[in-house]
Amino acid sequence: MAAKSPEEEHPVPTFGWAARDSSGVLSPLKFSRRATGEEDIRFKVLYCGICHTDFHRIKDDWGGTKYPVVPGHEIVGVAAEVGSKVTKVKVGDKVAVGCYVGSCGSCDNCANDLENYCPEKIITYNATYHDGTRTCGGFSNEMVATEHFVVRVPEKLPLAGCAPLFCAGISVYSPLRYYGLDKPGMHLGIVGLGGLGHVGVKFAKALGLKVTVISTSPNKKDEAITQFGADSFLVSSDQEQMKGAMGTLDGIIDTVSAVHPIRPLVNLLKSHSKLILLGAPNKPDELSFFPLLILGRKMVGGSAAGGLKETQEMIDFAAKHNITADVEIIPMEYVNTAMDRLHKNDVRYRFVIDVGNTLAAP
Ligand code: NAP
Ligand code: ZN
Ligand code: ZN
Repeated sequence: MAAKSPEEEHPVPTFGWAARDSSGVLSPLKFSRRATGEEDIRFKVLYCGICHTDFHRIKDDWGGTKYPVVPGHEIVGVAAEVGSKVTKVKVGDKVAVGCYVGSCGSCDNCANDLENYCPEKIITYNATYHDGTRTCGGFSNEMVATEHFVVRVPEKLPLAGCAPLFCAGISVYSPLRYYGLDKPGMHLGIVGLGGLGHVGVKFAKALGLKVTVISTSPNKKDEAITQFGADSFLVSSDQEQMKGAMGTLDGIIDTVSAVHPIRPLVNLLKSHSKLILLGAPNKPDELSFFPLLILGRKMVGGSAAGGLKETQEMIDFAAKHNITADVEIIPMEYVNTAMDRLHKNDVRYRFVIDVGNTLAAP
């Protein structure tokens, strides 16, 4: 039997913007969403951030993209309909969906609120849902997800500015907590001052850390220090600066989206400390274990977004400390230009699409 078209899969007509092939060019698409189930929350999408992962996906940088693909996993809006068994949200509440819309619910990771590491996790788009249909992201007029995968957005946070926290925010918050890089007074390096990096600085400062930004862009120095509160700034191509900072950091969070040298970063670490890699370029970098890691008892780790419980904790922490992303709000029609600019590292510091006001029905 031929697979149903995106428009025929479900009963509720929906629309958004999708990439049709690995050119990554986005254009309007009619598709459909399921009817609201008893554990579902349906919401009108108001804003959706553009993560570098969206760029990797629409370009099929990692392989496995199935077209048409409707991207977007930093999705915020207002609940429009809730199923009969939903308890945590009522119609009219501000809600969000981040990177995941499903998981197995029974493995060790799911039992420990780590749905993000469930072997059967279902990502928000470009995945197959439990019912066999394709998942579609937030570059669309509305979203539906089970209550478990919906996060309540604190009233005081502006919606556009907090949208990026549902990927960029949790993706930096979770490793800071898990790897113990959250103790006041610790000296943290953040590599790459982009979407993840700039909110990383804000969370780290709110946790009481000393923060050094390591960047390829000298012109971001003033903003790093005055706007985001970083304590110092290193230009990674400046050998003198990098040499002067050797052995000074207790940990590094690396958010760079492209292949880049790792060795100079490891050299910035004190002994017994950690380099945490978050960026996902399509080619691996070579890391020599000896003498780089072995002699200093250094550790290299990774981390992928965060579980739902921790995402709620992160957004409540953000509300308490007034943390939002610095955003450039754009209309839907600007999305292809925004993707080009993101690729050229020309964004300060996150594009957020004003879906609610600018997504027109095709
Ligand atoms: P972004 O906004 O484009 O920021 C990436 C930053 O990396 C840039 O602002 C730039 O900072 C630096 N950079 C770019 N090209 C570089 C190069 N060739 N060499 C050195 N530095 C370079 O991207 P993002 O949305 O923050 O995402 C960053 C990466 O993390 C992507 O690969 C994305 O897929 C991945 N990601 C991972 C997770 C996770 O959970 N692990 C979650 C979301 C995203 P400077 O100008 O300061 O150098
Ligand atoms: Zn993301
Ligand atoms: Zn599981």
